Amino acid sequence: MGMIIIPRIMPRLRPLLSPFLAGLTAMAAFQLPVYSATQVVVAIDGVLCDLTRTLAGSAAEVVCLIPADGDPHDYRLRPSDRRALANASLVLHNGFNLTPAAEKISGSVPDIAVAELAMPSYRGNDPHVWHDPANSAAMVAVVADRLEPLLTATQRSALKARATEAISVLNAVGEWGREQFNTIPKDQRVLVSEHKAYSHLTNRYGLQQITMLDSFTTGGVLRPSSLMKITAEVKGSGAETLFPESLPVSKTMRRISRTTGLPVNGAPLFADGLAPDRSTVGTATLNICTVVNGQGGKCDQAAADELIARWSAIR
Ligand SMILES: [Zn+2]
Repeated sequence: MGMIIIPRIMPRLRPLLSPFLAGLTAMAAFQLPVYSATQVVVAIDGVLCDLTRTLAGSAAEVVCLIPADGDPHDYRLRPSDRRALANASLVLHNGFNLTPAAEKISGSVPDIAVAELAMPSYRGNDPHVWHDPANSAAMVAVVADRLEPLLTATQRSALKARATEAISVLNAVGEWGREQFNTIPKDQRVLVSEHKAYSHLTNRYGLQQITMLDSFTTGGVLRPSSLMKITAEVKGSGAETLFPESLPVSKTMRRISRTTGLPVNGAPLFADGLAPDRSTVGTATLNICTVVNGQGGKCDQAAADELIARWSAIR
């Protein structure tokens, strides 16, 4: 059998051939050049995966680390994540300590705290900034700015068009959100949830936020005196329902439901990332409709669907 000649692989063939190449590399007889047609961008947490994929289109390969339903707060990097990070030209994470694991990445690749750049004057302690669509729009601008140097001139102008449309859709979501919250009776504009994840949403739309776990438990334990306090606060707040962040509903929320007599909302909120099979806009409109409908307002789903369609049409 003759010698195997390995041609210089054309960049665009690399995705098709990579299992083949991986096999050959394992043989250790060949030192193949690492050759990639497209730049690899790693998006670690929050909604960055969808924002970055939407902006990159086919111009860059976007690798997302934390799954849509994953918990960024407790995330630990896996060996496959480290490999992805080693191949990346750019690494994006939310910042504001949403994902402590992301703050510790060191290497030669720029690791950008997108939300921190998008909101340089924010001094609060709620990293879930994307619940205000205006903050997501500012994050789009930062991601686009960082992607630009990785692309060719033609790709850049397409990127610019996508970024403009993405910002326009997110601003429209922000306006749509105001109309939805305005349908909630004034004395019921309150959001009772588990951890402090919605301050950006409640601040933008003038809702009162009550967080059961962060404000009233010590290490997750709810003392009897705290249970009495939160029961009184929730009962007097105008809350119609308690919003869970995961199913099954936590023990603490069930207890507070019993003591307040308020039902746990059937649909959960999505605090830390994307709702299953939904985009940034799909998740934002879903969260807003969940709160609005749960608190006695009426959400305009048809208008939400149009915004969702506009977002997914960005190419
Ligand atoms: Zn969170």
